Amino acid sequence: MTFYEISSDNRKKGEWAYGIIIGDYPKVMIDCSVCGRNWRKEKLLDKNSDITVALVNDNFADFADVIYHKLIKSEALELLQNNEIKGISAGHINIMLHDELSLDALQTLKKKGCKINLISDSVPQYYRLFANVGISLHERSEIELLDFCDACGYKKFITPNLSYLDPSAPIYFARETWNGDDLFMTEELGASLFCSEKFVQVYKENNLTGLKFSKIEFL
Ligand SMILES: [Zn+2]
Repeated sequence: MTFYEISSDNRKKGEWAYGIIIGDYPKVMIDCSVCGRNWRKEKLLDKNSDITVALVNDNFADFADVIYHKLIKSEALELLQNNEIKGISAGHINIMLHDELSLDALQTLKKKGCKINLISDSVPQYYRLFANVGISLHERSEIELLDFCDACGYKKFITPNLSYLDPSAPIYFARETWNGDDLFMTEELGASLFCSEKFVQVYKENNLTGLKFSKIEFL
């Protein structure tokens, strides 16, 4: 059994359509009376958050990025489901077309550096792609839980001897903790998505687009 980390396929960087958020970024400020922290909780990967995007570029991969969140085309979703890929769940996304955006909204996007003339006017059906925690890290992984609060859910993971999480630090999966999902996340590694060999096989056999895979070590 081999596991892979999923990243975006940048071979066509600048060409694949990607989503930009219209309106407020999904987040909530937490003011915890137990730990005294005041922190910003990201809700981009929260199934209960509601997001609206516009897609930039007209070249639609099966998987498209909205910052660190992924969208999946409806045909690709159906294909994965028909192949009994486990662990995927899909959520609704509002997609606005260029014509539907007000001048104000377009101006705001332009000020943020968005290429507004490349916003699509005809888009395929996409869904938000979600996965659950499906494996634990092996204790030999170079990662440490620095601080947490059970009351508000605050957690900070770091690379030992650093004040942040170094994405290049060695990570190992504890194979026996895998729950069998073909698409999954970890508790520790934020938005990172991982998948099974079966997922990669179905992806390749069907010439899906938008993702890249790199092998993960396990112990
Ligand atoms: Zn707290």
